[in-house]
Amino acid sequence: MEPRAIAILGATGSIGTTTLQVVRTHPTLLKIAGLAAHTRWRDLIAPVQEFGVTTIALSDPQAAQEARQSGAFPASTRILEGPAGLTEIACLPEVHTVVSAVVGTAGLVPTLAAIQKGKTIALASKELLVLAGKFITAAARQSGSQLLPVDSEHNAIHQLLRDKPAHDIDRLILTASGGAFRDTPLEALSQVTPKQALQHPNWSMGPKVTIDSATMANKGLELIEAQWLFQVPMDRLDVVIHPQSIIHSLIALTDGSLQAQLSPPSMAYPIQDCLLFPLRLPCPAPRLKLSEALTLQLTPPDPRRYPCLGLAQAAARQGGIAPAIFNAANEVAVEAFMKGQLAFTSISAIISETLSQSPQHEPSSLEDLLAFESQSRQLASRLALGRTP
Ligand code: MG
Repeated sequence: MEPRAIAILGATGSIGTTTLQVVRTHPTLLKIAGLAAHTRWRDLIAPVQEFGVTTIALSDPQAAQEARQSGAFPASTRILEGPAGLTEIACLPEVHTVVSAVVGTAGLVPTLAAIQKGKTIALASKELLVLAGKFITAAARQSGSQLLPVDSEHNAIHQLLRDKPAHDIDRLILTASGGAFRDTPLEALSQVTPKQALQHPNWSMGPKVTIDSATMANKGLELIEAQWLFQVPMDRLDVVIHPQSIIHSLIALTDGSLQAQLSPPSMAYPIQDCLLFPLRLPCPAPRLKLSEALTLQLTPPDPRRYPCLGLAQAAARQGGIAPAIFNAANEVAVEAFMKGQLAFTSISAIISETLSQSPQHEPSSLEDLLAFESQSRQLASRLALGRTP
């Protein structure tokens, strides 16, 4: 059997490099057909050599130019550029699975194009479903493309739901680590710094996700994602804080029993699950050792500590453009916080104000949605600038 060909959008980030590690572990089953990054072309030199990749893309044309002129790649390497380059990588005829791991919304158009071609999508960028869940799931239904969640929580639920009839399922329960300020006194939260927020207790992730984990805006985005992925309404989704990040999520069955998926906090597990699905093989990450004592805590989140969670739930219930506004306002607010322009506790205030000052809207097309999204981004920027830290 031919190895399954993988394209990675976001090849130089933490999901991208862990994907390479999984592919390296299973060379007879997996191969790399294409790699795409934003600007970091130097980080593609080694994987291009190691995996014999013939096509790469850089969304930044300047970076593509530099890569071509560097002489660091074999003469046979095709170096594509711009958003169209990402789309071409995602739609290469030999590609079976596209790992969609571009930060933000730049992955939307290429991922949608791959879905329309019927490719399997290992979905790691949560913004895509939050923004365009309606369009993405409709396109997948039409082409028969499979959407497999890379995010550890959704991957856990995907594993738990396999082969279970819908009438057996009562609720889906996403676990959350609680982030860097889980135990910080509430009154100290307004004074915390970006540096403190970036110290995540369990996961090593990009800075944006790490801040989102501290505010739990991340879990809010994940709730919205779960609605689309599993086609369940918000009132059947719960969040529980689990500081150890060993239980990646749970499902509650109709009879009241709970089932959970446990593994160490390594993204190699969910990534491999997506790439080899439905095969299970040894994963290139440490295993849980039950020969050592293991304590697992589960506690409900305190809404005073995590106001972003309630805002995300409200946006999801509102539907239409609201989840996209939640995401845009959060991105703007987190950026302002990182620059020292906004207090940590004002992140939720900016989201709340942006949501309440934006009109309700049901987007008719992706273009319509993106236009509204960029308006709410501008509104959030004005609101953030109006505040001092
Ligand atoms: Mg997650």
